[in-house]
Amino acid sequence: MTTATHLPGTRNPDAGPEAALAARLDGRLLTPGDAGYDTARTVWNAMVDRRPRMVVQAASAADVAAAVRFARDRGLEIGVRCGGHNVAGFAVPDGGLMIDLTPMGGVRVDAVRRRARVQGGALLGALDRATQPYGLATTAGNVSHTGVGGLTLGGGMGWLARRYGLACDNVESYTMVTASGETVTASRTEHPELFWGLRGGGGNFGVVTEFEFRLHRTGTRTLVAEFDFRAEDAVPVLAGWRELSAAAPREATFTASVADGPAGGGPVATVGFVWVGDPERGRRLLPALRALGRPVATRITTPSYLELQRRDDSTGGHAYRRYSAGHYLRDLPAAAVEDFLLRGAADLRGTRRGAGAGTGLPGVGLQAHGGAIADVPDGDAAFGHRGTAFEFGAGSRWTDAAEDDARMAAARAAGAALAPYANGVYVNSLTAHEGDRGVRRAYPAAKLARLAALKAVWDPRNVFHLNQNIRPAAS
Ligand code: FAD
Repeated sequence: MTTATHLPGTRNPDAGPEAALAARLDGRLLTPGDAGYDTARTVWNAMVDRRPRMVVQAASAADVAAAVRFARDRGLEIGVRCGGHNVAGFAVPDGGLMIDLTPMGGVRVDAVRRRARVQGGALLGALDRATQPYGLATTAGNVSHTGVGGLTLGGGMGWLARRYGLACDNVESYTMVTASGETVTASRTEHPELFWGLRGGGGNFGVVTEFEFRLHRTGTRTLVAEFDFRAEDAVPVLAGWRELSAAAPREATFTASVADGPAGGGPVATVGFVWVGDPERGRRLLPALRALGRPVATRITTPSYLELQRRDDSTGGHAYRRYSAGHYLRDLPAAAVEDFLLRGAADLRGTRRGAGAGTGLPGVGLQAHGGAIADVPDGDAAFGHRGTAFEFGAGSRWTDAAEDDARMAAARAAGAALAPYANGVYVNSLTAHEGDRGVRRAYPAAKLARLAALKAVWDPRNVFHLNQNIRPAAS
């Protein structure tokens, strides 16, 4: 393999199609051995170790189009990288061409019109940092190093979603490079069916080079409330928490989690909420939560919105091996509460075994949906499951490859225990193992059929298949 790194303004002396591609780019072409190649192929989940034949570090929509045409004409598998957070590592094609959008990370804010133009490779932190000086924000996820691209195309849940809808509900328009290398705009008035599909249909239709978001006057202040309980005491606590969540104002997103406790202790269940807005108004919810039981620890904090958005950056950090299992839950009946607390173990004693040294059980969490997410008519966007009450996730992180099978099995067991209460799954939390079955859980059958028809229009040869794939409908 020749190394064909392109420095702007120079021509690689190597002849051949790769050198010609490199010479055309505003960005760079990397091949194995080039400086930056290993960084470009390294994604969030350390279990992903794939080697693309080449990486186009795209600096412009023209670069993206050139890369798509090059790969398509040579039958190279395409992977599209934004934040690199997809747990299955779909951004990285083994032996294929990776379109690395990270050089396209810019955000332009029009504070008067309350709009942000966000390039397809931007991270959530860049979006928040650009909008907050104006007291503005839009729905974005909870970890700032996640990509706007993958998150928004799958839906996009965050602390503002109960007030303003999912990230995809706040997109005015998408600029996208198609499988044939053309650039199109999709909005309510231009290519409205494509606009529908891009709102939740993932990276199936093309490479989005720019998102235009609506912004909201959110201010910069928040409140986070967390109450820790011994897991064995937490059944009535969670039942009460669920009732409070159902009646909560839209500024509040209720959360619950269970994890191994400190050495010598048993598992800890944490319930609480995140409030975006005036903390004094958020504090009005505290007495009801305090009345749920006797917590072993309480944390009430008032981070700025930017601090809130970075709060989970280190627990959600890179370089760990990762696996997760998730569901959307329409309700949280009493039996589901018990299964949630067990994390896939047979009984709570099982969740204590080896506490401190770690049980190997996954951490589990719930995050409330509802509010403005559920206001959007179901037919309005490809995103499925508007009626979800809570998203459930079971996630494991570890470093030793020898633990892979046990860790994955434990996360799957925790997921399987909640499966009887599930109404579907978030497409962005699917692992590679779930394949077509997972895609059928993410989209109700009628939506999947409509998505497949749309795929047949925009990508009939399934050029963009390294994703939670929607297969083109047969013509
Ligand atoms: P990448 O791996 O770069 O991309 C994932 C896939 O998206 C790509 O394979 C490609 O198919 C597609 N894609 C990405 N960008 C583009 C583009 N510009 N054009 C076309 N296709 C593109 N989700 C939430 O909703 N809310 C959260 O709070 C949240 N928190 C998370 C925290 C962590 C630590 C992690 C790891 C994930 C979180 N997620 C959350 C899930 C997240 O939405 C998905 O992992 C998503 O795939 C991440 O997108 P990315 O751009 O970082 O990933």
